[in-house]
Amino acid sequence: MDRMLDPASPFARRARRPAARFEAVLLVLLLAFIACARTAPVQPADLLLTNAAVYTLDRDRPWVEAVAVAGDRIVYAGTAKAAGRFRGPATRTLDLGGRMVLPAFQDSHIHLIEGGVESSQCDLAGLQTREAVFAAIKEYAARNPGAVWITGGRWELPVFPKANPTKEDLDKLVPDRPACLFAADGHSAWVNTRAIRLAGVTARASDPPGGRIERDPRTGEPTGTLRESAAGLVAKLIPEPGPEETLRGLRTGLEMARRLGITSIIEANAREDLLDAYAALDRSGEMKLRVLASLHVDTDKGLAEVARLEKLREKYRGLHLKSTTAKIFADGVIESHTAALLQPYLDRPRDCGLPLLNPAAFDALATALDAAGFQIHVHAIGDRAIRMTLDALEAAAKANGPKDLRHHIAHLELIDPADIPRFKALGVVANFQSLWAYADPYITQLTLPILGPERSRWLYPIGSVARTGAVIAGGSDWPVSSANPLEAIQVAVTRRGPEEPAGPAWIPEETVDLPTMIAAYTANGAYLSHEEKVRGTIAPGKLADLIVLDRNLFRIAPSEIHSARVLLTLFEGREVWRDPGF
Ligand SMILES: [Zn+2]
Repeated sequence: MDRMLDPASPFARRARRPAARFEAVLLVLLLAFIACARTAPVQPADLLLTNAAVYTLDRDRPWVEAVAVAGDRIVYAGTAKAAGRFRGPATRTLDLGGRMVLPAFQDSHIHLIEGGVESSQCDLAGLQTREAVFAAIKEYAARNPGAVWITGGRWELPVFPKANPTKEDLDKLVPDRPACLFAADGHSAWVNTRAIRLAGVTARASDPPGGRIERDPRTGEPTGTLRESAAGLVAKLIPEPGPEETLRGLRTGLEMARRLGITSIIEANAREDLLDAYAALDRSGEMKLRVLASLHVDTDKGLAEVARLEKLREKYRGLHLKSTTAKIFADGVIESHTAALLQPYLDRPRDCGLPLLNPAAFDALATALDAAGFQIHVHAIGDRAIRMTLDALEAAAKANGPKDLRHHIAHLELIDPADIPRFKALGVVANFQSLWAYADPYITQLTLPILGPERSRWLYPIGSVARTGAVIAGGSDWPVSSANPLEAIQVAVTRRGPEEPAGPAWIPEETVDLPTMIAAYTANGAYLSHEEKVRGTIAPGKLADLIVLDRNLFRIAPSEIHSARVLLTLFEGREVWRDPGF
């Protein structure tokens, strides 16, 4: 072709002219393209957040000024100037005046429906004296003359000597009906004589497996407090809340979550009635919250549970609901001597607590669940229960090979130092309830005296686990304690009570920094839920689950973090909560 287009030939000359014109056009197009790429109209955003302190958790650009949202997604995060090109005629712009924007929170261990249901029952949460507790029960009973049972609770264990309230006290307050009031941690029940008689619990009744009936040491007569599975002797007689009450409970829980900036949760212990409620509101479009349900495993049934759980996993999945996790209880709690320890409780020299599975059964169950593709979520509090759990997850990994299921252990109150590196090594996520990690009466009155100082050094060792590089997640265990993530974040940073002024930390080696805790409630929650590719940080392409806080957490004293307020919560780009004053 070259030879044919001899430059001397007229053809060649004629051919050259258009070619030159073509090059010029190309140049213009190229320049236009470059100009376009800078300022061109892109698809306009529905919402523009500007003039903000946006903490993205995106390693490439941790802080930006502006975020643009179109539909359910973030389309831009960067400078205010560049965000301007996403402004169209219908774009709503919120000038945040320097306020903080974060990815919305995930609570990775919460009993959302039960908490909501309990809110309408006899509520003793936070009452600090016996007199206040008694008055509240009496008042509730008087206000609900038609209630066949008086139930609810959330009483604080330290209010009663040895966390052991008596049936006589409750008989005086509720003489005419059975009463069963659960402790704030859910692991003890305070019952009256009518309830004990209905359940047929006498001095001769033996403790059920995995439970303890507190008794008069001389007569063996039950004194009115039932621990762990023993509470079930009475609890099974209480009429279950019907579907309507369960739905009401869920709506109450959803409302609270939105206000606190929570748009994703891991439901900590899902039974079918709860799953039905989640599924119903998911279908109706009312559930503006993402739920990963941890399916309750009846460990007594062993391996037979796996097939049942597989059916539930298939049945209970929807737009914002998945049920890909299995929940196992490995032990109880320290305060009532039911957490499983490696060494005995100091005040009961032969008592190491109550592991709820034996190690061989635990290994087999974990291996079968892991093989079936379930993420495993374990309640483990004592150092023995935690070691057994890590052993079981290690056995599963050995048997099945690595599966990236991101198993996790919740609570983690007392970890033997030898087990701390195993979280990172086994890829097990440490799911802490850090609001408990300060020297409150649960610790000073009920825990330190029965563990002793040496072991107590290893209570809630969040800092040590974080330093190994393990993934740290956070959850509230509401209604056991407040669901406000900001309170838990503050306590992890300060190791002091949320309302306490600044001062020395309790076990200062175990404090962690603010970025670690914000990640625990955002990006790491998304990772735990296997959704880190679609949410958990603020970057283009991610779902627009965002919150606006009234102050920048990095610019205030750590002791003030809990008083920051969520002004706005966006779930997939839609506003689901706005503070009336905002
Ligand atoms: Zn729980």
